[in-house]
Amino acid sequence: MTTSPLRIDARDPGSRARAGVLSTAHGEIRTPHFVPLATKATVKGLLPAEVTALGYDIVLGNTFHLMLDPGHERIAGFGGLHDFMGWQGPIVTDSGGFQVFSMGYGTVADEIKGRAPFGTGRMGRVLAIEEEGVRFRSYLDGSEKFIGPETSMQAALGSDLALVFDECTPFNVDREYTARSTERTHRWLTRCLDWHAQHGPAGQLVYGIVQGGVYDDLRVESAQTIAAAAVDGIAIGGSLGEDKPQMYEVVDWTTAVLPEDKPRHLLGIGEIDDLIRGVELGIDTFDCAMPTRLGRHGVALIPDPDKRWRVDLTAGRFRDSKEPIMDGCPCPACAIGLTRGYVRYLVHARELTGQRLLTVHNLAFVARVMEDLRAAIYAGTLPERASALRAGAAPGV
Ligand SMILES: [Zn+2]
Repeated sequence: MTTSPLRIDARDPGSRARAGVLSTAHGEIRTPHFVPLATKATVKGLLPAEVTALGYDIVLGNTFHLMLDPGHERIAGFGGLHDFMGWQGPIVTDSGGFQVFSMGYGTVADEIKGRAPFGTGRMGRVLAIEEEGVRFRSYLDGSEKFIGPETSMQAALGSDLALVFDECTPFNVDREYTARSTERTHRWLTRCLDWHAQHGPAGQLVYGIVQGGVYDDLRVESAQTIAAAAVDGIAIGGSLGEDKPQMYEVVDWTTAVLPEDKPRHLLGIGEIDDLIRGVELGIDTFDCAMPTRLGRHGVALIPDPDKRWRVDLTAGRFRDSKEPIMDGCPCPACAIGLTRGYVRYLVHARELTGQRLLTVHNLAFVARVMEDLRAAIYAGTLPERASALRAGAAPGV
């Protein structure tokens, strides 16, 4: 009998939303919480202290990328991922299941999740998916590599929270494939847990991953199987459908049957309306490339639901704009009065500062959305706050 690392302090009576604290070996995470990506051992462009100052308690590194470069043995030689990257707070490592399977087939799941197709036009590709694991060509140098449940757990770099290795079933496969694939994910979970019980670092939490595609019965069965295993938490992965209503439905089926006490992570989802709905559906943590990737491409998050909370500052109409990135935004970029015209110029000139400013602004925006939702759960005002945010209220005001 394991005790849950999640302490739930407050619940919204009208939904499944809950707020609390998730405890790990390197500190606590206030939930619900968004996890910025540090895929390759850095939140691109930011210092660790800046990530903390923006309101984040945890970052996500990727086992798959880091085992290819610089290699998990090398990172171990630096004392593990925390010391290597200078982040002493909690780290979650994604197993690489999504990345390795994205190379193999289909980019539909990427499109659904707003991710750039991985491996497209590159050397990386899957050679064989076998019971033992997956053989693939490295996207870096074309060399043949192998990743399986044990190798993935071994390469988890001393993270505080390791996601198990799963077969990430894409959207464009039929029910039978999804069922077989989900069963394999369950067998791989057992192998991950067996490896971890023998060799896992002390204090590392392990999350199982629910698969099952867009099939109600497969999702429910997978959720129950994962929940019954000796996992510390549960992540929801795989294809969540072709549009937002279907995504919410799939998450709804899943959280409806998950045990209350275990923490829940929704993989790869982070648009503003998805964060709001996800919290209502009982998700505790989210990760997504969206805020940081958009920032690097000149797009700022603003409270404009009709435009998916986005404004593309690379557009010509901002050339002479004296407007701030966002009115009233307290982030370090907006607080000193930097204009859209300046940011547009920096992005076009490929000045690193432009990418940094928008990364900071976007992460600050998402942090305030999450803090709003969290505070509203404690205050008993989640329905009002959620509908205000959906209608375009500025977060954190
Ligand atoms: Zn700002």
